[in-house]
Amino acid sequence: MMADDNLEELRNHHLTMTKSKADALRGLYQYKAKKFKDLKLELTTTPKGRISNLCPYCQLEIVGTLDHILPKTPFPEYSTMPWNLIPCCATCNSKKDDDWLDEHNQRCFINFYIDDIPPVQYFYADVSVVNGKNDIKYNLRFPAGYTSTLRARIENHYKKLDLLKRYLENSDDVLEELRSVIRNYAHGVPDGEIITSINNTCKDMQVLFGENYWKAVLERACVNTSAVFNLLKQPQ
Ligand SMILES: [Zn+2]
Repeated sequence: MMADDNLEELRNHHLTMTKSKADALRGLYQYKAKKFKDLKLELTTTPKGRISNLCPYCQLEIVGTLDHILPKTPFPEYSTMPWNLIPCCATCNSKKDDDWLDEHNQRCFINFYIDDIPPVQYFYADVSVVNGKNDIKYNLRFPAGYTSTLRARIENHYKKLDLLKRYLENSDDVLEELRSVIRNYAHGVPDGEIITSINNTCKDMQVLFGENYWKAVLERACVNTSAVFNLLKQPQ
């Protein structure tokens, strides 16, 4: 029934039930229950056995809840179905709330199980030095190959989960870490070598977490923008 991207179709199969039955079904879903803990572990373990605890919606916070793609308030009958559950962080889960369709009846959040996202970058960090300080602006820029539906879904996803702002709030920590990495290279190591090495580390991160992994995108932008790189290198 759920082999493909037909979640929207489920609206047409909405079951009518009494309030007590609906409450009982919702009650089955308790994130702290052992069955759900086991399910969460299964859903967050990669085929190679690596446990990925990073929220797939934001790639910023750790998984702490199970999100219902079809919200559990209007759809209690699907609240315990594994294909309707995505492990995610509490912040994303609360920002999603019962939202799931946009004004055109299209899903407004990326579903990492079924959405076919082209493996090309659309998330960018534009970095510069302004008044002696690093300045970061995050932007979405879509290359050819993205349908308008997919593009709208990704834009909604970032907007509704407040991702650009949340990344910005966490960017100073990434820059501090990067500053420490750069300054810990032995004295005399040429800049080119440092930059290549950090770029390679970022590429490895992007293999694991995707082209648009915000930390890798930010670090690459910083080391490949000479004014920002030079500022990071300076003793504080
Ligand atoms: Zn999240």
